[in-house]
Amino acid sequence: MNAVTTEALCRQLPQLGRLLEEDRVRDLTRTWPRESVVDMARGLLQQLRQQALAGLHSEESLRWAIEQLPAALSDELQRANRLSLRRVINATGVLLQTNLGRAPLSEAAISAMEQAARGYCNLEFDLTTGKRGRRDAHAGELILRLLTLRSGRSMDGRAATVVNNCAAATFIALNSLAEAGEVIVSRGELVEIGGGFRVPEILRKSGAVLREVGTTNRTRLSDYAAAVTPQTRLILRVHRSNFRMDGFTQQPRIQELVALGAKASVPVFEDQGTGCVVRLEDSGIREESSWVRSAASGLSLVAASGDKLLGGPQCGILVGEHALVERIRANPLARALRPDKLTFAALQATLLAYVAGQEESIPVIGMLRIGAAELRERCDSLAETLRELGWLAETVAVRSLVGGGTTPGASLPGFAVALRHPTMTESDLSGALRRLDPPVIARTRRGRVLLDLRTVAREDDATLRRLLENPEPSA
Ligand SMILES: *Cc1c(COP(=O)(O)O)cnc(C)c1O
Repeated sequence: MNAVTTEALCRQLPQLGRLLEEDRVRDLTRTWPRESVVDMARGLLQQLRQQALAGLHSEESLRWAIEQLPAALSDELQRANRLSLRRVINATGVLLQTNLGRAPLSEAAISAMEQAARGYCNLEFDLTTGKRGRRDAHAGELILRLLTLRSGRSMDGRAATVVNNCAAATFIALNSLAEAGEVIVSRGELVEIGGGFRVPEILRKSGAVLREVGTTNRTRLSDYAAAVTPQTRLILRVHRSNFRMDGFTQQPRIQELVALGAKASVPVFEDQGTGCVVRLEDSGIREESSWVRSAASGLSLVAASGDKLLGGPQCGILVGEHALVERIRANPLARALRPDKLTFAALQATLLAYVAGQEESIPVIGMLRIGAAELRERCDSLAETLRELGWLAETVAVRSLVGGGTTPGASLPGFAVALRHPTMTESDLSGALRRLDPPVIARTRRGRVLLDLRTVAREDDATLRRLLENPEPSA
């Protein structure tokens, strides 16, 4: 297409003023602020002009696009004024995914957040004395009580504090306890957890000096012992949350590190991560690391996430010797990393559910424990309705993952509904599912889309039925 033609095409485009005079556009200013309509209309015209200049339009397609402008404007205004953070249905079968917001909260946690959000609350106010209180008091006692109940060990002399996430917990612990000093870490634990959280980099940013010991696959207690100098401030242990090492490997047991730390007068800190307080063996998962075991093992300090296997809100929990926790609380960074009232409300409710023996009300725990028979029944029932609606659907056996960097390599046996479409490819189909409202996120396998109901709340089986009423979801 030559330049004369594209310029001639551009002359077809209406002036902004004339577009705004159109009845269908003027109607929009009754719903939306006039400035928004003007701004959006200008943007759409510019977009058409660029398309025309780039030779993307024929006279006919441009005329059609101009005819559609008021409708496009209305769509754009609606899109731009809708919340972009939306509920989705997680049909991937992966319980914990950072990109899907990790753990869904329990009803009790949600209502605690609602109460705290609606009005004022005693976040940092001691109702007995009428004086200023500490916000982590709303979780600290409960955390210690829960760990005592689960481990059978006393938590006397220990304290707990809460920051925004486990990465922040690790960072503030290193900065408070080891700035300008040395931290001993095994070369097998210099890992990247995900989202750019790399142990050596976090260590450097905290102001501590990394003393690597051992090799990638084998680190002995004697390697740690030989690295202790007067500059040593901490021995750090990192749970390799998202991968597993098999074969010719070795690492000291936590108890051995604790004994070494005691002998050398160096605190031992573990970045445990998972925050798991239930027995994963009950769900058929070999338990490699447990928050309860770590916290009760005599480690000086342990960091864990609130929104992984604990099933609570995003936060990072530090449990350890009182004096160490006090030093962390006194760090000016504690102010910068403190969670808000909603987090404390949800965390407290989540911890209370465990203490009260109601842990299955926590969605992540419920999902871990759903039996295969129950999943099969739900899948059969959904598949049958979907077939009646015209879908090619059947129940298939699958394995679900815990995810979120918690139990690398482990999976849970279950069932999913495998969906196929006579003409759409699996990736077109999963794209169409993402455009539903609420969007449905699924995984694909050999030409089919799998709806793994383990991560779908029971009441959303009906939502799925309704959403899939039309076998060609195009939305
Ligand atoms: C997940 C994880 C982190 C990061 O936790 P966030 O709560 O996402 O900040 C750090 N360390 C370990 C061992 C983890 O498993």
